[in-house]
Amino acid sequence: MRILITGGAGFLGSHLSDRLLADGHEVICLDNFFTGRKSNIQHLLSHPRFELIRHDVIDPFKVEADQIYNLACPASPPHYQFNPIKTTKTSVMGAINCLGLAKRTRARVFQASTSEVYGDPEIHPQVESYWGNVNPIGRRSCYDEGKRCAETLFFDYHRENGVDIRVIRIFNTYGPRMHPNDGRVVSNFIVQALRGQDLTIYGDGSQTRSFCYVDDLVDGFVRFMNQTATVGPLNLGNPGEFTMLELAEIILKQVGGTAKITHLPLPADDPKQRRPDISLARKHLGWEPRVPLAEGIARTIAYFRTELGI
Ligand code: NAD
Ligand code: UDP
Repeated sequence: MRILITGGAGFLGSHLSDRLLADGHEVICLDNFFTGRKSNIQHLLSHPRFELIRHDVIDPFKVEADQIYNLACPASPPHYQFNPIKTTKTSVMGAINCLGLAKRTRARVFQASTSEVYGDPEIHPQVESYWGNVNPIGRRSCYDEGKRCAETLFFDYHRENGVDIRVIRIFNTYGPRMHPNDGRVVSNFIVQALRGQDLTIYGDGSQTRSFCYVDDLVDGFVRFMNQTATVGPLNLGNPGEFTMLELAEIILKQVGGTAKITHLPLPADDPKQRRPDISLARKHLGWEPRVPLAEGIARTIAYFRTELGI
C-alpha cells in the first residue's frame, strides 16, 4: 500500500515509518518540522519506498494514498503551549484536511487522539465510554479540546460521508527518538540524570501515569488500522501505573551517578492519575504491551547516552 503519515518526522511517526517500510509498504511522510527532526528519518531518506514532503497540515494537500495516519501535532505540554492557537488549528484543520482527502480518495484514515480527551479523570482506569473531565479554557485546552474536536470531525465524516476512520487514544508513550528538549517527563528525567542534574518533579510526585514503550504502541497502531471489528475510539497504552516519584527512582537507579530529586510547582490542570483500560484492544486486536517499564527505560537511556555523547 501507499501510506501517508502526517507528522512522520516526529517521535512516533518515525517509528511508524520504519515499521511500515519493513512491512513492504510505500511511505509518504508529511511534516512541517515544528517538533520533528530530519535526524529521526535521516536513515530513510535514500530508501526507494520513502518520500518526504515539507508541508503544514493546516493547509490543504493532495496525495494519492491507500491509508492515512494523522499524527501531526506537537505532543509535549511546553511545545503545544508555545503557540496554543496554532496547536488547535493543527488538530482541527489537520483533521479536516485529512478527512477531506480520505473522502475524495477513499483512503482509510487514522487519528492519533490522546488520553488527554479524558482530562483530569474521575473514572479510573479510563474506559473509552467515559466522556472526560476537561477544562475548556485552561493552558492544556488547546491540545485537549483540539483533539476532542478532531474526534468529533472524524465521527461526523464517518456518519455523514461514510469515511473509513480509525480513532485511537494514546496514553503516555516513550522511547528512543524523543527530543532531548521535548519536555515530557521520561526524556526530562533521563537527560537530567545523565547530565548529573537534579530530576525536576512537578508537585509532590504522587500523580500517576502509565508509560508504554514505543514498539508496543506502533504494533497496536498497525493492528488497529488493519482490522474491521471497530473504528474506535480505542485506548492504547500500558496499564502499569507509576507515580512520578517511582519513575524518578527507576531512572536514578539505572543511570547511577550523583543526581537527586528536586520539586518544582505543579503546572495548572495537571491530571492526578491516568491508566488505560485496554479490554477493547485486547478483545479486538489481541494486543498486549510486552515491554516492561524498566526494560523500556534501559533502552531509552542507551539511546540518550549515544545522542548526548555521555
Ligand atoms: P512529536 O512532537 O515528536 O511529533 C509530532 C510531529 O508532528 C512532529 O514531527 C511535528 O513536526 C509534526 N507537526 C506538528 N505540527 C504540524 C503541522 N501543523 N503540520 C505538519 N506537521 C506538524 O510527538 P509524538 O509523540 O510523535 O506524537 C505524535 C502524535 O501522537 C501527536 O498527534 C500526539 O498528539 C499523539 N500522541 C502522542 C502521545 C505520546 O505519548 N507520544 C500520547 C498521546 C497522543
Ligand atoms: N513532570 C514532572 N517533571 C518533568 C516533566 C513532567 O514531574 O520534568 C510531570 C508532569 O507534571 C505530569 C507527568 O510528569 O504530572 C507527565 O508529564 P508529561 O508532560 O510527560 O505528560 P502529560 O502530563 O501530558 O501526561
